[in-house]
Amino acid sequence: MRRRLAKRGLVVLDRDGVINKDSADFVKSTREWVPLPGSIDAIADLSRAGFTVAVASNQSGLARGLFDRRALRAMHRKLRRLVGEKGGRVDRIVVCPHGPDDGCSCRKPRPGLLEQLARYYDAELSGVPAIGDSLRDLDAAAAAGARPILVRTGNGRETEAALGRDRARVEVFDDLAAAAAALLQE
Ligand SMILES: [Mg+2]
Ligand SMILES: [Zn+2]
Repeated sequence: MRRRLAKRGLVVLDRDGVINKDSADFVKSTREWVPLPGSIDAIADLSRAGFTVAVASNQSGLARGLFDRRALRAMHRKLRRLVGEKGGRVDRIVVCPHGPDDGCSCRKPRPGLLEQLARYYDAELSGVPAIGDSLRDLDAAAAAGARPILVRTGNGRETEAALGRDRARVEVFDDLAAAAAALLQE
C-alpha cells in the first residue's frame, strides 16, 4: 500500500523527548504520555502547511514487557486526537518493538524505520527532515540519507554536548516548535 505525500513532502519525528516528555522509567500509558510545550501545535502547523508528518520511534518497552500494543495504540490515539484538535494530522506512526539485543534492523540508530516510511510513501529519504533528541535518531537519519535535526528537549542537550566536532554538521533547535518554524520558513 502506498500513500501520496503532501506537497511539501515528508517530515519524520522521534516521539519521546521530541513530542512528549521522556522518562527514564519509559512512557507506558496515556497518563504518562504528556506533550512537551508547543509540540502539538508544531505538528499541526507542519501538517496544515503541507508536510506529511510521520513518527518513527523505538519502543523497546514492548519487548521488555513494560506495556503492550494496546497501551501503545492508546498513547498514539491521544497524540492523533490532540493534533487533530489543532487541525493537523499525524499521517503514519512506525515503531520498533524490539529490545537492544534482538538484532533487528529497525531499532534506531539503524535506518529500518525510516526505510519503512520510504517504502510506504514510495519516497526518497534524501533531504527529508528527521527530528530527534538522541544520537541514535541523528545516526539513523544519517544512515538513511535523511537530514538529521536535533532538538534540545528530552536528551537533546546531552546529545548536543556529545556531538563534539560533528555539531557543525547538525542543525540544532531548542524544541520541536523552533525546528518546525524553521522548516516552515524554507
Ligand atoms: Mg527520543
Ligand atoms: Zn526493531
